[in-house]
Amino acid sequence: MGEPTQSNTDPQPGSGQLDRRGLLFILSSPSGAGKTTLSQMLLKRDSEIKLSVSVTTRPPRPGEVDGVHYHFVSDEKFDAMVAEDDFYEWAHVFDHRYGTPKGLIRTGLKDGQDFLFDIDWQGTQQLYQKDQQDVVSVFILPPSLDELRRRLEARAQDSNDVIDSRMDRARAEISHWAEYDYVVINDDVDQCFERVCEVLDAERMRRTRQTGLIPFVRELMGG
Ligand code: 5GP
Repeated sequence: MGEPTQSNTDPQPGSGQLDRRGLLFILSSPSGAGKTTLSQMLLKRDSEIKLSVSVTTRPPRPGEVDGVHYHFVSDEKFDAMVAEDDFYEWAHVFDHRYGTPKGLIRTGLKDGQDFLFDIDWQGTQQLYQKDQQDVVSVFILPPSLDELRRRLEARAQDSNDVIDSRMDRARAEISHWAEYDYVVINDDVDQCFERVCEVLDAERMRRTRQTGLIPFVRELMGG
């Protein structure tokens, strides 16, 4: 998770840079609807948000790097982390377990660091229960189920059986769309990305997140 990027310095009237609390930005979608592409675009565009790297018991896919895409661990290690209360949330997805390590998230939020989560509806609900005020959730819908299947097949990483089970899972995942703060249809990835960025930019400006506003206004009004 790395170091927080912002320090709590005194606000400078007119500088436009006020201290703010970070947020937990969740992008969810069925596999293949584009959230991983969108996450990568967001991390490239925006240096104030960093990926929360999950822990998983599933084996790496070709090209996946331990510590970058996931922390890949054994079942025994995952059990030990659950016992130690090392997770913010965790869930069974398909035949494996996935969890969000607590790490630096709590201190990072105070220092204005945003965290991006590429997690499913179960993880979203758990994060909401733990920390509703900091969560902003976005659900990405595919334009159609035919298109979703086409995208899964084009990835050519999984067998037909796996694709069938991911399509079943996609229907189940989509049924949770109404539990999210925002829903965006990924018909055109660039347009979808613009919508996602607009949501993030606006949520950062929420009054309740702008912790620097009180001292700023006090100084603005002459102490
Ligand atoms: P994949 O194996 O395709 O990388 O991910 C499978 C599913 O697990 C995805 O829907 C992804 O959002 C979900 N997932 C990944 N990390 C986490 C996590 O830390 N917690 C939860 N609850 N789900 C996760």
